[in-house]
Amino acid sequence: MVRAMLIARTLIQLREACARLRQDAGALAFVPTMGALHQGHRALVRAGVASGAATVASIFVNPLQFGPNEDLSRYPRDEAGDLAALEAEGCTLVWLPDVATMYPPDEATTIVVGGPAERWEGDARPGHFRGVATVCAKLFGQVRPDRAYFGEKDWQQLQVVRRMVADLLLPLEIVGIETVREADGLAMSSRNRFLSPAERTLAPSLYAALTRAAGRIAAGAPTPAVLSEAADALTGAGFDVNYLALVDGPSLAPLDRATPQSRLLTAARLGSVRLLDNVPVG
Ligand code: AMP
Repeated sequence: MVRAMLIARTLIQLREACARLRQDAGALAFVPTMGALHQGHRALVRAGVASGAATVASIFVNPLQFGPNEDLSRYPRDEAGDLAALEAEGCTLVWLPDVATMYPPDEATTIVVGGPAERWEGDARPGHFRGVATVCAKLFGQVRPDRAYFGEKDWQQLQVVRRMVADLLLPLEIVGIETVREADGLAMSSRNRFLSPAERTLAPSLYAALTRAAGRIAAGAPTPAVLSEAADALTGAGFDVNYLALVDGPSLAPLDRATPQSRLLTAARLGSVRLLDNVPVG
């Protein structure tokens, strides 16, 4: 029997549905999102469904993770399209909280993660990971999943959430899912729609530069030279490179040579869009 996907818009509805699903399915998988869903999000939902758990997805554009000069007001929203995509992937329950439920006026607690939240996006977007960690902790408390799925596309975010879950002894497992890309290599992102046609043509060269640099570093070329050549080439092509760094995967500490856990990490602006990407090295 095919059951219709459940939708919860209040905490009471969510708690009732989760309790029932936990009883019926045994385990709950959880995919937090900000909506405007694409194949990257859908891969996370598919992994949850494939695990045999009842899969809960949330859609919440989290104001706490946007800075004052960031794109909260223009962040794309498409509830009907998102619900259709989630249903098509076999999602069991969608959680659509409002801002007042997530951030009641009398609240006094936020979560600040050190370690992997420092540097890179932490420097570029002050307060961003405080917003991410706080909303994830709240969502985990609301849904109480056995596993939560996050994309490697946002590598630093994945490590920050893992660190928080380990440090706060939260009773769930964090599962990372490989980045889903367009056919030309561009990492899928809800913000790609804001690229102009010319920027969209240029955008895949970010991934091409990452893979080329990763190959050279893995083959033993000196890391600082490889990184500065790649950054110069991207700048010459029209990217405003925010950072391009070789880092230890879990801790995000910078490295000067490849290790089994190293990643090449970048953020670069193309017009009004900040593109993030990363690849394994070695
Ligand atoms: P967002 O809606 O942008 O907050 O993303 C929700 C989740 O989807 C996060 O765990 C992201 O890392 C993940 N995600 C976004 N884009 C991709 C992608 N291209 N491939 C895999 N996961 C992704």
